[in-house]
Amino acid sequence: MHAKGRVAVIGAGIAGLSCAWDLHKAGVDVQVFERDAQAGGRMSTRTKDMLAFDLGANFLVRAYSNVFQLAEELGVGLRTVSPVDHAVYRDGTARLLHFSSVRGMFRMDCLGLWSRLRVLRFLLKVRLRYPLLDFFHLSSLSTQLNKEDAYSYARRKVGQEFADYIVDSFNGCMMFHRASEISAAAFLSLFRMMADPAYDFGIYHAQGDMQAISDAMARSLSVHTSCPVTELRQEGSGWRLMCARGSPFFDRVVLATTAGVAHHLLRDGPAMQRDLVAGTRYSSTVNVSFRVPKQALGQTHCFYVPFCENRLISEFTNEALKGDHTTHQGWSLVNVGLHESGALPLLEQSDEQIFAAVAEQLLALHPDLQADQLKPYDLQRWREAIPKYDCQHVERVRQFEKQAQGDSGLFLCGDYLNSPWLEGACRSGRRAARAVLSDLARG
Ligand SMILES: Cc1cc2nc3c(=O)[nH]c(=O)nc-3n(C[C@H](O)[C@H](O)[C@H](O)COP(=O)(O)OP(=O)(O)OC[C@H]3O[C@@H](n4cnc5c(N)ncnc54)[C@H](O)[C@@H]3O)c2cc1C
Repeated sequence: MHAKGRVAVIGAGIAGLSCAWDLHKAGVDVQVFERDAQAGGRMSTRTKDMLAFDLGANFLVRAYSNVFQLAEELGVGLRTVSPVDHAVYRDGTARLLHFSSVRGMFRMDCLGLWSRLRVLRFLLKVRLRYPLLDFFHLSSLSTQLNKEDAYSYARRKVGQEFADYIVDSFNGCMMFHRASEISAAAFLSLFRMMADPAYDFGIYHAQGDMQAISDAMARSLSVHTSCPVTELRQEGSGWRLMCARGSPFFDRVVLATTAGVAHHLLRDGPAMQRDLVAGTRYSSTVNVSFRVPKQALGQTHCFYVPFCENRLISEFTNEALKGDHTTHQGWSLVNVGLHESGALPLLEQSDEQIFAAVAEQLLALHPDLQADQLKPYDLQRWREAIPKYDCQHVERVRQFEKQAQGDSGLFLCGDYLNSPWLEGACRSGRRAARAVLSDLARG
């Protein structure tokens, strides 16, 4: 099939690239416009001194079926770094997590015995009652389930310990904000996925680092880097873009930036699209990395740090476990994520101040690390890190998708469209591509 029409995709993160990739494969004339010097957005890697720092996304899991399929099509190798240990802090000590088997769960001493039994019962119920919950497309979740936040739901159904040390802790690590800010349905679907034996807590990483996936797609597409779109003007049935390459005209436009940028570009856009992006909230964080001796953190890959244990650090990962290429001359990286409330006051501070504040807390959490082993390496400030999928947001996106996607030849995609993480963003891009194709077919 060769669909007629010129399509512009604004933003070369995984959502925009996946959309452009599917359009390109369907024979559409598609061009991608990217603000930064390289594609990737929140899935980018910066390499210096022979060590690679994933600035945003830094792992994949087996459940990312669309990302795995893309990587295979593009010839990008994905390798597993499992089996690895995961640990959660309780009373100042890192305790191992064993979520993937019933026997393992009884050994999880981050929770009391009574809580473990209740979690187990809860888990079995969730598996039986909600076999089809899809974390990567939250619009598919039942409206009925989407009325309460995850923290109060977990406390009511299982108990305070579970809410603090598992639910709030995972949300802090993976979303950087509190479980009271995400819908119970969204968390339930994440939990459902993680509790599936097929999930196995295995961590995957791209050969050539996360950047490899976006680079491979960008090479096969027409991508204009260092080319921010500054304005969008509706003209007849299409859109004119203002950018460093002039003011090209397109029949359809896919806006694949974060909601904040989309809000700015949609000043004259359709009302429902404008309202959706105006109402989208993100957590902010800073991703900080230190050089450490490669054995410094042992065999534990990810340390989850609940908010009730530390107000600054939400998680840290041992990059040495990702493979030999992540170590150089006996050094590797520890990658630290921050809780939003700890990160907000740091966003305006200097790099030195941020490194000092984070190092102090990291040393307190991991007493085996020595101050002289911890060398500031790199950091990235994220003002729009991860969307907050609270109940109102999930419902607003659901309505938008039913009524306004594609209005006036303008399509939205990205993780904020009820499509969390890399897999969600990739699927959102692919859904937008399908919508563009049927719109073009209608003429
Ligand atoms: C610190 C951190 C850690 C994370 N860890 C993980 C993880 O381990 N695993 C996981 O699955 N997910 C993780 N995520 C989430 C994941 O990175 C995102 O969900 C995903 O990358 C979002 O992709 P996107 O295409 O929707 O948006 P983005 O990647 O933000 O893409 C938007 C693109 O638009 C471009 N742009 C902006 N303005 C303009 C303009 N005016 N003109 C043209 N282009 C413009 C941007 O430069 C960017 O390239 C993490 C996120 C962060 C911040």
